[in-house]
Amino acid sequence: MSGNTAIVVGAGIGGLTSAYALQSSGWQVTVYERAPAIAPVGAGVGIAPNAVKALDHLGLGTALRERGQRQEALEIRLEKGARVGHIPAEGVERRYGAPFYALHRAELHRLLLAGLEPGTLRVGRRAEKVTTDAGQATVVLRAPDGVVAESADLVVAADGVNSALRAQLFPGYPGPAFAGYTVWRGFAPARSLNVPRVLSETWGSGGARFGHAAVNDGQIYWFAAETIAEHARPAHDLARLAARFRNWHEPIPAMLAASPPETLLRHDVYYLRERLPSFVHGRVVLLGDAAHAVTPDIGQGACLAVEDAVTLAAAIGERGIDDGLRAYDRLRRPRTESMARLSGRLGRILQTASPTAALLRNTITAALPTPLLMKAVGGALAWNPPYGTATTGGRHIHGPVSD
Ligand SMILES: Cc1cc2nc3c(=O)[nH]c(=O)nc-3n(C[C@H](O)[C@H](O)[C@H](O)COP(=O)(O)OP(=O)(O)OC[C@H]3O[C@@H](n4cnc5c(N)ncnc54)[C@H](O)[C@@H]3O)c2cc1C
Repeated sequence: MSGNTAIVVGAGIGGLTSAYALQSSGWQVTVYERAPAIAPVGAGVGIAPNAVKALDHLGLGTALRERGQRQEALEIRLEKGARVGHIPAEGVERRYGAPFYALHRAELHRLLLAGLEPGTLRVGRRAEKVTTDAGQATVVLRAPDGVVAESADLVVAADGVNSALRAQLFPGYPGPAFAGYTVWRGFAPARSLNVPRVLSETWGSGGARFGHAAVNDGQIYWFAAETIAEHARPAHDLARLAARFRNWHEPIPAMLAASPPETLLRHDVYYLRERLPSFVHGRVVLLGDAAHAVTPDIGQGACLAVEDAVTLAAAIGERGIDDGLRAYDRLRRPRTESMARLSGRLGRILQTASPTAALLRNTITAALPTPLLMKAVGGALAWNPPYGTATTGGRHIHGPVSD
């Protein structure tokens, strides 16, 4: 046991993974979440090879393989169905050491929560303020029974893209930027549809895109992205969405027709376009979307949060808290800043409403041989845990970090 204590603010994928990683290194961890309960989150999530390797490193890879659906390929189509890109899972696995998985977000939450020691999670507690000195940090929490202050050796701010703690620590930072589009998400039952187990994305020419992936519980997770003005409020209406995509290739119209309307979710996409001066402030460390929200165009937001958690625990396990935090900042900022830039650029290309720009994009993509296409998406996937032999199926104590 290290005897060290940590407070994690936010029970998203980043917060829960960092709590698990720190507990695996012997830390005493409490996670504070503002929501009154961890409700099943109604969407799917793609787990890319880099995050599969991170979960393997934590000993959670077996659970991921049991609960997630391995994707046989990545493919890109155009709205009438022409395939312009195809990367088989074997190629990805050979090159990057793991394939892609997709699973229900609620399943990923359950998997992470199941690994935590009993009593770790405290819900209904909103962090309002954080202070830090050389040796510890203190969080002021609004709880059902009043306001309390809790201190620990380390505070992990994993409170998402609209992080209140980031805004407090870096008041000059401009905050999240609108990416120019909104994303609808839902589920369709797999039994009535003949959908291959691939991560598929279809590009339209008028600022629309559709993607889907099979998840493990007999459901197909899908998303539809529409270019809109910031603060526009399109009607929350599955029938309208089905009308917009009715002339796209199957199984898109069938999938929308088979989706229960109550599964429909919408999120406008915001990301952190500007660099933060640091991910660390005294004994407070930013992690996940709070540090580096990217757009979903590279399918990496949650994956990068999982990488953060592995890196944080490994760095402080090897170097002690303060040196370890410096190593975390050095290791994570360049990678996540470049991912944020890439995601913003890609989003503009993929959501273009200009038919000419869309034609150029489609022609270039179709001309790329598979190895080059794989290279184009490969920067994110090539990540490996900063140190240590991957383990599966049990807790893992971290070894030295090299940076
Ligand atoms: C449409 C869409 C599709 C996506 N698809 C993918 C994908 O396929 N693969 C992928 O890797 N990523 C994907 N992402 C990105 C991914 O969802 C996020 O990057 C990831 O969920 C971030 O996790 P997080 O833990 O950092 O933040 P969050 O999930 O936002 O969690 C933050 C938590 O903190 C809590 N909280 C906030 N403020 C406070 C406070 N003051 N006090 C206490 N608790 C607080 C919140 O309630 C929440 O539970 C997608 C994103 C979108 C929008």
